[in-house]
Amino acid sequence: MTFDQVIVLDWSAAGTPKLGKDSIWIGHATAAGVTAENIATRRRAETRLATLIDAALSVNHRLLLAADFAFGAPKGFTQTLTGQPNALALWDWLATRITDTDKNATNYRTIAAEMNAQFAGHGPFWGNGQKYETPGLPRTKPAHPLGLAEHRTAEQVGHEGGLRPKTLWQLAGAGAVGAQSLTGIPMLHRLRARHADKTAIWPLEPTEAAAVVIAEAYLSLLGDEVRAATAQGMIQDEAQTRLHAQAFLTLAKNGNLAVLMAPDHPAETLLAEGWYLGAGQAATVRAGLHTLTPPRLRNDCFAMPQGVAWTQVDDALDRLRATLHPVTQIEATPLAAALGRVLAADVTAQRANPPHANSAVDGYGFAHAATGAGVCQLPLAQGRAAAGQPFAGAVPHGQAVRVLTGAILPQGVDTVVLEEDCAISPTAIAFDGPLKPRANTRSKGEDLPQGAPALAKGHKLRAPDLALLAATGTTTVQTYRRLRVGVLSTGDEIVSRNAQPHEIYDANRPMLLALAAGWGFDAIDLGHACDAPAAIRNHLNHGAKTADVILTSGGASAGDEDHVSRLLAAEGHLSSWRIAMKPGRPLALAVWQGTPVLGLPGNPVAALTCALIFARPTLFALAGAGWQTPQRFPLPAAFSKSKKAGRREYLRARLNADGHAEVFASEGSGRISGLSWATGLVELPDGAAEISPGTAVQYLPYSGFGLN
Ligand code: AMP
Ligand code: MG
Repeated sequence: MTFDQVIVLDWSAAGTPKLGKDSIWIGHATAAGVTAENIATRRRAETRLATLIDAALSVNHRLLLAADFAFGAPKGFTQTLTGQPNALALWDWLATRITDTDKNATNYRTIAAEMNAQFAGHGPFWGNGQKYETPGLPRTKPAHPLGLAEHRTAEQVGHEGGLRPKTLWQLAGAGAVGAQSLTGIPMLHRLRARHADKTAIWPLEPTEAAAVVIAEAYLSLLGDEVRAATAQGMIQDEAQTRLHAQAFLTLAKNGNLAVLMAPDHPAETLLAEGWYLGAGQAATVRAGLHTLTPPRLRNDCFAMPQGVAWTQVDDALDRLRATLHPVTQIEATPLAAALGRVLAADVTAQRANPPHANSAVDGYGFAHAATGAGVCQLPLAQGRAAAGQPFAGAVPHGQAVRVLTGAILPQGVDTVVLEEDCAISPTAIAFDGPLKPRANTRSKGEDLPQGAPALAKGHKLRAPDLALLAATGTTTVQTYRRLRVGVLSTGDEIVSRNAQPHEIYDANRPMLLALAAGWGFDAIDLGHACDAPAAIRNHLNHGAKTADVILTSGGASAGDEDHVSRLLAAEGHLSSWRIAMKPGRPLALAVWQGTPVLGLPGNPVAALTCALIFARPTLFALAGAGWQTPQRFPLPAAFSKSKKAGRREYLRARLNADGHAEVFASEGSGRISGLSWATGLVELPDGAAEISPGTAVQYLPYSGFGLN
């Protein structure tokens, strides 16, 4: 569902032609950019829209025209008025009755009164900004109109994040939108008729084959972005039409408009009431303004304040936390492909869970009011209710009906008795009362009501989250693109096969690639570079093109053979953070051609510790998943150690048979077997510590680092 152009129309029902605020605005987004124009009368706006449509068609462009008024009424209204259920019947009805002039003089109030007259008692429309009376059109809101909802389903779904779409019924007063629909629908009806075979009204008609798709928008969706533009002096209506046009065009290009055009609601509802693009999906619309490449980290982002000699671990983490922001774009991801992905927008329940009140057990359902204390005998109604097989009709008061677990409670049933608690004959059941009202039932939305927050932006999706999203009707989520993590090993002595006596096998690269992949990132093997600036430069250049962040190991200190830090210092905006931590040496942080580089120590023990303590939160922040603090809990030590003040220490540790933390026999940072022996780390504090068996120490399990 792609479009080459998007027009967003802010339609006004003002009686006096005017320009500026609260008049007609047309925002127009094309590949060339976004423009906006302001038009004083509805007639002239209609002519202008016709011209823009013709221009798009003449160059074979597909055009989305989104207008900011309701295309339909709450369910039941159109049926009563026209004898047909669907909103298009209302379009036809209005098109032959509403008049308008080139001075904005329209008869919509009289027509609203005429519609009111079709309803028993007073009709739904109210509000009159004129001095003169229109008989049949009350000035103030009457008591709730019989049998008609105040809002359409889309507006109910759209009640999110402080948004309160207005009702069609209100024709005057602050923020009233009804008059826009009454004057706007006939106008769009005429525009559609000009190219009837090429135009479709969404969601009232199939749109696949249409070159011009006319849809409804709600221009309050991008509230924050519009406020930012008005703070710069732009008129609100102009900002709304520009920003929505821009967002819809971007979403059309990246495939996400299809998400907005496939609301998970019955076709019957969409056809009867219409729908607006982005109802309950404000975050998706908003993503249309933010799918541009996110800003890269600044070159000086890792710079330490002047005069810092040694940095404590927590200060270093705080600095990183304050510096980092997500660097990956946002994309729509189907649920089936979303495991491990990071949400780029909050997700709300599209559907209540459970969607209807249902039975929690196999038993018999009835109206609680018909029962009491003591033995209750109820005749059995014909039929039964099972999961997926709803009971047709209503259960008469005082009767019971067979219900099975998961069945929607039939009309007339609010309480269920367990079959084990019943005496059962072919025609009746009996049980010992009293039962609590609604016993053995689950109420609609008791888990999550429709529109409730389901998962927050930044959450990394796990299997149970997929269950939650699926159950609440979400089929596609906005996620950050997977972070691409490049891994490079350095050192003349490092090889991957056939080691000569003076060579050693590359242990860090498989470890770091596995860590990145296990964290849900795209792990990119950048290979190995020997200790020569040209070789390292080549590998970093390649990494900067293919990865969002690069992890190197080796050569990161300040010695003669520390070629990585030398090159990064000369050409890559290096900041060497001298971190008061063992194992670990300076943490080399740099930006190479816009891509952050973390230079980890070469010793595998130090490389893993620094990766867990520093690289993990860094990568998660860059990936959009926010800052991660590892899980930790106190355990009695199974060892003794006298630790001096000054730096934090991490020991390879695991739980012994008593559940106490034992540590690896050697603290040597080349002892890879200890990494493999361990199931976590013991963290000893920055200050001095005397540890003997039984002293409480902090244990950080590997699993809390997402390491399995
Ligand atoms: P460096 O940080 O380059 O001085 O390396 C420190 C120690 O770690 C040296 O003994 C290196 O041989 C060793 N080392 C560096 N990179 C790796 C690697 N990828 N795999 C195993 N050991 C390494
Ligand atoms: Mg080296």
